[in-house]
Amino acid sequence: MEGQVYDVVILGSGPAGLTAAIYTTRASLKTLIIAGERWGGQLMLTTLVENYPGFPDGIQGPDLMIAMRKQAEHHGAEIVEKNFVKGDFTSKPFKITAGDTTYESKTVIIATGADTKWLGVPGEQELIGRGVSSCAPCDAPFFRNKRVIVAGGGDSAMEEALVLSRAATQVFIVHRRDTFRASQIMQDKVKASEKIKTLFNTEILEIKGEGKVASVMLKNNQTGQTQEMPIDGVFVAIGHKPNSTVFNGIKMDESGYIVVHDYYQTNVAGVFVAGDVHDNQYRQAITAAGFGCAAALEAERWLRDQQG
Ligand code: NAP
Repeated sequence: MEGQVYDVVILGSGPAGLTAAIYTTRASLKTLIIAGERWGGQLMLTTLVENYPGFPDGIQGPDLMIAMRKQAEHHGAEIVEKNFVKGDFTSKPFKITAGDTTYESKTVIIATGADTKWLGVPGEQELIGRGVSSCAPCDAPFFRNKRVIVAGGGDSAMEEALVLSRAATQVFIVHRRDTFRASQIMQDKVKASEKIKTLFNTEILEIKGEGKVASVMLKNNQTGQTQEMPIDGVFVAIGHKPNSTVFNGIKMDESGYIVVHDYYQTNVAGVFVAGDVHDNQYRQAITAAGFGCAAALEAERWLRDQQG
């Protein structure tokens, strides 16, 4: 609500933001979630989630997010489905503008997540969840005894390929240059796997399939030769883009991930961070939820300390 000072404003409504809200509301902190016009984060775009504890048969990504949202609202969190516009972190209370409304808050938890970078080729968006994925730990079991491609040449691509090699019969890493960007140790692990083959100087032009991935069009950018390759899955691992560019005055690293100081604080006292917007390492729903819990507990402690 406009005109009142919240204890906590949470920016983002993925697992990190909603878990933070469950904790702050249960601690009787007046909590507002700026959820974004498309609330719920990356899990709203996924299908079956099999690695979130508590669901032995798995749960659909959107169902999991709806349940988290209900739980946060049940405990009293207010939610506005507006996009964050700007934050003034220079004086207290902090001022957060979402849509055309400015809210005031004693603390802020930034949990805006990160977006997968996609290739942007025909077929890709339509086939997400139907053979196109960006998360091998989530989806590898669906590719048991199948052939898959991993696009990319960094550590993420190596890791995705290694995870997939435990389930799939054959993994092809498709990389646009003739050398990997990945660390030597990851490259060595990939080289040691009999199941992983690399196609260097190769680009994916198109992903084809009716209802599920069936093949990819590949181009060798040295020879110009193209070929259609039958394949069951395409894992895109060309990096992530943290949703952090809108935060003036909040320190980030060279890739845009928010820098975490002690106790999940940013460089601004009272502004905390949780989830994929700072986590370049794990990027799982369960770790994001864990970071949301930690940030909420720290915000609560910080508010208590301020009151002396
Ligand atoms: P990254 O290091 O930025 O690598 C991205 C890769 O994708 C590069 O090889 C790049 O090709 C390729 N690429 C980018 N845009 C592309 C496009 N449009 N089409 C085709 N290929 C494209 O990203 P990352 O692998 O996600 O790693 C990010 C950071 O997390 C790194 O610091 C990494 O070390 C770290 N990380 C570490 C681990 C680990 O230690 N186990 C695991 C995952 C991530 P070029 O090489 O040609 O630019």
